[in-house]
Amino acid sequence: MTGNSTTPWDELPIRDELRGKSPYGAPQLDVPVRLNTNENPYPLPEPLVARIAERVAEAARHLNRYPDRDAVELRTELAHYLSRSTGHPVGPAQVWAANGSNEVLQQLLQAFGGPGRTAIGFEPSYSMHALIARGTGTGWISGPRRADFTIDVDAARAAIAEKRPEVVFVTSPNNPTGTAVEAEAVLALYEAAQAARPEGGGAMVVVDEAYGEFSHRPSLLPLIQGRRNLVISRTMSKAFGAAGLRLGYLAADPAVVDAVQLVRLPYHLSAVTQATALAALEHTDTLLGYVEQLKSERDRLVTELRAMGVEVTDSDANFVQFGRFEDSHRAWQGLLDRGVLVRDNGVPGWLRVTAGTPEENDAFLDAVRELIKEST
Ligand code: PMP
Repeated sequence: MTGNSTTPWDELPIRDELRGKSPYGAPQLDVPVRLNTNENPYPLPEPLVARIAERVAEAARHLNRYPDRDAVELRTELAHYLSRSTGHPVGPAQVWAANGSNEVLQQLLQAFGGPGRTAIGFEPSYSMHALIARGTGTGWISGPRRADFTIDVDAARAAIAEKRPEVVFVTSPNNPTGTAVEAEAVLALYEAAQAARPEGGGAMVVVDEAYGEFSHRPSLLPLIQGRRNLVISRTMSKAFGAAGLRLGYLAADPAVVDAVQLVRLPYHLSAVTQATALAALEHTDTLLGYVEQLKSERDRLVTELRAMGVEVTDSDANFVQFGRFEDSHRAWQGLLDRGVLVRDNGVPGWLRVTAGTPEENDAFLDAVRELIKEST
């Protein structure tokens, strides 16, 4: 939610660009079926909960001390996970972690964006990219997408050549549309971004792969090889089913990891967070088993919605964009009245539903069926 209105903080000496704005956040409503924030519907398995308790208890014995500021053990385990799951070897010096990938993205914009600089994203996309840009004083450029929500590479290259942004965001799979981006497209944008800024070290290209594990395609991570300005951003919020943990990470050239040290707060990642994330990484195989279930439920949602005559954007994520509604807010309310909360991202005519458990998805599909019946 980013609307303009009169707000209590307008009376304060707040920065001009924040005046009249409202904070980001989906409604947290207490309804039976919540499919609006791309969370994983499966609670962590009990053996993992027990292991977290153990590791957190051990960390608690040392809470009088600051945590490992460089999170070395955690970065080592994240590097193992990335190497194992993508087949591309990554070392701890190439990995950095923070409180959710939102904080990773914020640190990247603090280091590479900022006043007098710009970042571009291809919209509709994850709206926090623009908001983090605003929060860090980075100018925001809204780049184009085709009507089918794929990136028009020629138009994107032209926008990059004209605007010469210091930071380029590519979200794959994209939120809220679910659209994956081909490796060739990322490479074309990378080349365009470097060509547009021949001096000063080029431009950073940040590939936001928050939903990477749900894709039909392999990760874009191997593209960092030999490309110093390419960053892959990931999270444990989705595939690891740990949105409440707040753990995001990036993989890039070690120089990028060194650069974000200049802006990170000291001891930003608490000992409790590090211990919990390490416990979750011990259970990677079990957690990724849920990903397979969610991928097949996502594919089922696509198939069943299309069978009802509903338009669906191809999805590589754990959610599905569906429409098109003459009045998407009314359709959103109609589903809510039936106990199902989905997301209205403000993309005209479209709504987004997160793949839940089979029962939750059935409830959603029934609600859509009723909505269609009611309107015909
Ligand atoms: N990137 C994208 C594309 C997202 O959709 C989200 C979460 N909605 C994030 C980043 C941030 O996730 P987190 O901070 O929980 O890691």
